[in-house]
Amino acid sequence: MSLLVVGSVAYDALESPYGKVECTLGGAATYFSVAAAFFTKVSLVAIVGDDFHPGDEAILRKRSIDIEGLERASGKCFFWAGRYSQNLNERVTLATELNVFADFKPRLPEKYRSSKYVFLANIAPDLQRDVLKQVKGKPKLAAMDTMNYWIERSNGDLRETLKHVDILMINDSETRELSNEHNLLRAAKQIFKMGPSTLVVKRGEYGAMMVDKHGVFCVPAFPLEEPHDPTGAGDSFAGGFMGYLAGAQSTSDAALRRAMVYGSVLGSFAVERFGLDRLLSLRKSEIQARARHFSKLTQFKL
Ligand code: AMP
Repeated sequence: MSLLVVGSVAYDALESPYGKVECTLGGAATYFSVAAAFFTKVSLVAIVGDDFHPGDEAILRKRSIDIEGLERASGKCFFWAGRYSQNLNERVTLATELNVFADFKPRLPEKYRSSKYVFLANIAPDLQRDVLKQVKGKPKLAAMDTMNYWIERSNGDLRETLKHVDILMINDSETRELSNEHNLLRAAKQIFKMGPSTLVVKRGEYGAMMVDKHGVFCVPAFPLEEPHDPTGAGDSFAGGFMGYLAGAQSTSDAALRRAMVYGSVLGSFAVERFGLDRLLSLRKSEIQARARHFSKLTQFKL
């Protein structure tokens, strides 16, 4: 079962107390696809410029990632630059250059249109909706991410897209900004009125929380001694989460809970090294071992 994703494929400039890279393959859809490909086939919809490096294309091709939906245009790839604080908890965006994304009109290859699992990664909400509209029938599960950039610049469009998805997966500050509620449980109630029936809040070093009709489920973040670069942690979480569900072909409560753990596992690996580096050297056996470790980490007797 293949998992459809639309989002940014980008070049990033990253700075953290652990180092600096000028230009490395990034983008929300890239992290998502690489993480999800450990569990399922992925169909990628995005656009790149003529500066897209053949070596970076090979990274995607080598995995179970179908790039027929990766359009090429003349111009430059999406570019994003960010800098992290000493404790890695805060980041400032230094540059967001949409470049080829500014005129992107996503067109789904015919074979992508029957996708049953769809993820709208962080990108302009009207593009997210365009992709969803081209999927035939109602997907079994449609989830989306967004960020403050779109909450502030395209709020109307974002509200329209939200009406059509089952799961919203965002971080805690975005949850508060979107809902105008500080408390995350009250925020979830506001967000359910906008369309989604499930809210997954990514809380960085505090783990992740899922709220739906069954109640609340939380997973901790995997304790790491030396995280290096949080870029893409949220997208890798989403890739692990959606990849697991698409691979298991299930949206049951038990599967959603396991998906939270696989999301946390992939997110925790992503931050261990700069950019995509750790995900590219990762093996499936390491994912399973860390998932078992998660299970031990959270077990207790009453
Ligand atoms: P995350 O750390 O999960 O927020 O994701 C970081 C990735 O998102 C980077 O690789 C960026 O290229 C990408 N990104 C940053 N800002 C945007 C934006 N406004 N739209 C789409 N992708 C973005």
